Amino acid sequence: MDPFENLTADRPTFVTHLECGATGEHHEADRLHGLSNAGKPLLVRYDLDAVSAAIDKETLAARPPDMWRYREFLPVRAAEHIVSLGETMTPLIHLRSEEARLRTPSIVVKDESRLPTASFKARGLGMGVTMAHELGVQRVAMPTNGNAGAALAAYGSRVDMEVYVFCPADTPEVNVREIAMLGARVWRVNGLINDCGKIVAAGKDEMGWFDFSTLKEPYRIEGKKTMGLELAEQMNWDLPDVIFYPTGGGTGIIGMWKAFNELEAMGWITRKPRLVAVQSEGCAPIVKAYHDGKDHAELWKDAATVAAGIRVPAAIGDFLILEAVRKSGGFAIAVSESAIERAQATAAARDGVMTSPEGAATLAGLERALEEGLVDRNERMLLFNCGHGLKYPMPPSDQALDHTAPIDFATLAAAAHPLDL
Ligand SMILES: *Cc1c(COP(=O)(O)O)cnc(C)c1O
Repeated sequence: MDPFENLTADRPTFVTHLECGATGEHHEADRLHGLSNAGKPLLVRYDLDAVSAAIDKETLAARPPDMWRYREFLPVRAAEHIVSLGETMTPLIHLRSEEARLRTPSIVVKDESRLPTASFKARGLGMGVTMAHELGVQRVAMPTNGNAGAALAAYGSRVDMEVYVFCPADTPEVNVREIAMLGARVWRVNGLINDCGKIVAAGKDEMGWFDFSTLKEPYRIEGKKTMGLELAEQMNWDLPDVIFYPTGGGTGIIGMWKAFNELEAMGWITRKPRLVAVQSEGCAPIVKAYHDGKDHAELWKDAATVAAGIRVPAAIGDFLILEAVRKSGGFAIAVSESAIERAQATAAARDGVMTSPEGAATLAGLERALEEGLVDRNERMLLFNCGHGLKYPMPPSDQALDHTAPIDFATLAAAAHPLDL
């Protein structure tokens, strides 16, 4: 197998147009677009009959294992424009200890921390930068809680794009340094991500920025869509019953829902999973809107959570998230900060899986959903770990030994353990 085949082979593409997610109004493909004329996110539409005729499951299975294997389902026209850092297919891992503890036969984590820049933002920004590059963009700006900025910086640097990034002041230190090291210009801002977004909007004209804010360009969703395509393929086109997803701006939930609908329209799958949006009690606008029966969420005041990636007080795609959750038969659920911490410690110390706090939130969400009877124990559960735990502050560990003094070995087994909380 040629390892670069997905990045070099000429393959047909099937985009017909872009469609406003709210009004359905058509916008022309292969042109630079931000939001729709109605000010809402744009969705990319394909001739799915033609996709069906061009590709089958066997052909797909023989390609190298990265997200570009799904080219017929993606918008990029010319292989030479693909900006790639090795977007590998991510593994599925059983949490055996949790399955035993929660008496649930199948709890599987899809571990997206293996992607470039150690988060699933690589999928969306890899695609977004590829399309921006294809359409001639050279200067971009973005508000971010960290991981998106790092991915934008990494992909942007490969094609000499000028990248401007604005983070809330308390973004994890490692993220800000990572963004800087990857060649972007980065600032800490004394506000939240929506305040950072206002800076991008205000500076856009003067700076000639293309706005890479979540869902303000159409292609990040297409990158995130590959999570759904990949999951379906990995599970032999028989998806799990319930997917728990840490929801911030919502690109992942919207992208996966789009993937499942496209696959269903093509007859590649017959059953779609229920989608569960998990948020922190410290920032739960989608959960509130879900319970209030609303189509749009209200701005969440004083948003606070250790799970930086889901600290999004207002999401422009809120109505699309809520639609995916409701139409799939799923629900939205909030978990406490202490439940997130506990779940993170448990997954790490008992199952060896170092999740981000966002990923841990999905485990906490599953536990709560079981307690409340929202899911059945025997359903197959899939959790998304969207970033690596090493990118966040960890509890200190500072036990020391003096090798020149006698060691009381019997005391070592009594040392502190993370689960003695
Ligand atoms: C961005 C991010 C999320 C939220 O993703 P959306 O798809 O935008 O809702 C969750 N977890 C991590 C680690 C993230 O970086």
